[in-house]
Amino acid sequence: MRTDVIADPVRIAGTKMKVMTLPYQVAAATDRGQFRPSNEDAFGYLMDAGVFVVCDGMGGAAAGEVASHASVEAFLGIYSSPRDSEAVDQPTLLREAIAAANEAVYTLAEEDIRLRGMGTTLVALLVEERRAWVAHVGDSRCYRMRKGTLERLTEDHSLVDEQVRRGQITAAEAANSPLRNVITRAIGSHGSVTPEIAEVDVRSGDVLLLCSDGLVREVSDRQIGEVLQAATSVEAACEQLIDAANTNGGKDNITCLVVRAV
Ligand code: CA
Repeated sequence: MRTDVIADPVRIAGTKMKVMTLPYQVAAATDRGQFRPSNEDAFGYLMDAGVFVVCDGMGGAAAGEVASHASVEAFLGIYSSPRDSEAVDQPTLLREAIAAANEAVYTLAEEDIRLRGMGTTLVALLVEERRAWVAHVGDSRCYRMRKGTLERLTEDHSLVDEQVRRGQITAAEAANSPLRNVITRAIGSHGSVTPEIAEVDVRSGDVLLLCSDGLVREVSDRQIGEVLQAATSVEAACEQLIDAANTNGGKDNITCLVVRAV
């Protein structure tokens, strides 16, 4: 197994957020997969702020990599800058962080012709005590595993997923559609973006997974559930999910970020 980064948090100096009072465990890993020459996925988190993010860049190898990393950095930057965080509610802060990510990627693309047209997905999880929020743009996903049942908490902002929701095509047709890569919202493609934000509850023992489409294209929800259920640690869950995606084809970059409420 190749793991480019594992359990390597993005640390930004001067973090002033409160320390979480309830324990969470986190591990994350990203892998190039079997065929792609580079890895356009990126992840990051700030444990003290309880915020976790995965981005999947697009726009050609170099540009996709720039987009996903710039997005993660700008997103987390909002949580690491000193501020009176009590005055702002969490969804508002999430919207601000996503706007910052969008601004960062959009500006880079405007300034450099080689980066024109780049963009990235973003899926983020914010935990505060036993409340949590999931925010997303694009087709990176969040799942929650509770008592043996895996539930997908996000609906892809993709052409085929929207067609499935409207009843125009079946899920099987979507999986094989030549249009399955078309996403309908992205960070950095336009001057502004509207994220979807949902509040979710978290209970002790829950496992939350943030992942890029390189995982879910290769590994069925059923298999994801089995791995999360059987894994003895968050690190093992990440490694086993990436192994499964590579075993099943590894056609795209794969990123998994696993958070467990202790
Ligand atoms: Ca991808």
